[in-house]
Amino acid sequence: MTSAAALDADAARTAGIIAAEEEHVAHNYHPLPVVIAKGEGSWVTDVEGKRYLDLLSAYSALNFGHLHPALVAAVHEQLGRLTLTSRAYHNDRLGAFSAALAELCGKDLVLPMNTGAEAVETGIKLARAWGYRVKGITPDRATVIVAGGNFHGRTTTIVGFSDDPQARDDFGPYAPGFVTVPFGDAAAIDAAIDENTAAVLIEPVQGEAGIVVPPVGYLRAVRELTERRNVLFIADEIQSGLGRVGETFACDREDVVPDVYLLGKALGGGILPLSAVVANADVLGVIRPGEHGSTFGGNPLAAAVGLRVVEMLSTGEFQERARALGAHLETRLNELIGHGVTGVRVAGLWAGVDIDPAIGTGRQIAERLLARGVLVKDTHGQTIRIAPPLVVRATELDWAVQQLRLVLAA
Ligand code: PLP
Repeated sequence: MTSAAALDADAARTAGIIAAEEEHVAHNYHPLPVVIAKGEGSWVTDVEGKRYLDLLSAYSALNFGHLHPALVAAVHEQLGRLTLTSRAYHNDRLGAFSAALAELCGKDLVLPMNTGAEAVETGIKLARAWGYRVKGITPDRATVIVAGGNFHGRTTTIVGFSDDPQARDDFGPYAPGFVTVPFGDAAAIDAAIDENTAAVLIEPVQGEAGIVVPPVGYLRAVRELTERRNVLFIADEIQSGLGRVGETFACDREDVVPDVYLLGKALGGGILPLSAVVANADVLGVIRPGEHGSTFGGNPLAAAVGLRVVEMLSTGEFQERARALGAHLETRLNELIGHGVTGVRVAGLWAGVDIDPAIGTGRQIAERLLARGVLVKDTHGQTIRIAPPLVVRATELDWAVQQLRLVLAA
């Protein structure tokens, strides 16, 4: 076969796989036209053998990169022993994982679940039960204050308090009990609190919204006022937590400890779904046997990976990498402002880059970067989101930004 014919055959193979997927997989996503077959570290390889630098990391679930040897080893070791017990019995992994995670968070208790949305749902149930049983809110009146522009997942309750029409429209009726205030405005939270308020639920940095970093002092003010008004502070660190922003948690950026951490994504090492709600016993202790759970929540396979993840975070190495590489990336990205980029927001190794509409949409830029071997994801029309694995090298980031520069100049 001539090399041109081989290229055509490769492209036809990719198109065939995508067509077959589109025939049988519901169209609830709009993936970029690439079929990935392998991954290692910060790089993936498609079915044609082309390599791409992964600057999305599965929305930060792959903070440690693809197939991190220590995580793969933890899974292999556990696969040979035990995968699932359900919580009808104890298993010999859950306790060790929970102890390590509780210590990482500086809290007493862990409630394990699987997906991020389940952790958020658990947080909401916890807030309500705490509201009735500890705070003394009148039955069925409890409310949770949330922020505009939030993204907490896709369940019917959660989309009900989203203000993104794509996430919300046509999925009503929506659950009552949520009050929305502007993100970044602590005074608005203070004004919205009344005797029925059980909790404030926020992302310390809004990821899906385009890496929106609140004004300095916001998290501290939320901590101070929730404490003063006897309201739980629930931090959704599902995307921002576990090293991404250059600290273990985004709340650490302001030395703030919320009452409840919601964790997911990277907790499962990019290998298994694993989420958790972490809080002290005076809060999480209100949930009683039989009131909440999940068949797979706390399974020994996920717990084995989660324990290794926590051990890896305990050294501080990944947080330090995110800090140093993030500062480097920020400098490089800022150089693009005025050259097809209208704004850059950075928190650790996590960036939202606003594309000048005259150059193209975020989706178009993502497609053009794909052709140059760089994977990113657009969000909200004009923004591309960059969240490289924390194992990425500075030289790889430089190369990726150079590809973006070329795309913007084309
Ligand atoms: N919370 C935040 C902040 C998220 O970014 C996400 C997912 O992007 C979720 C919750 C939902 O997580 P999952 O997709 O695992 O349900």
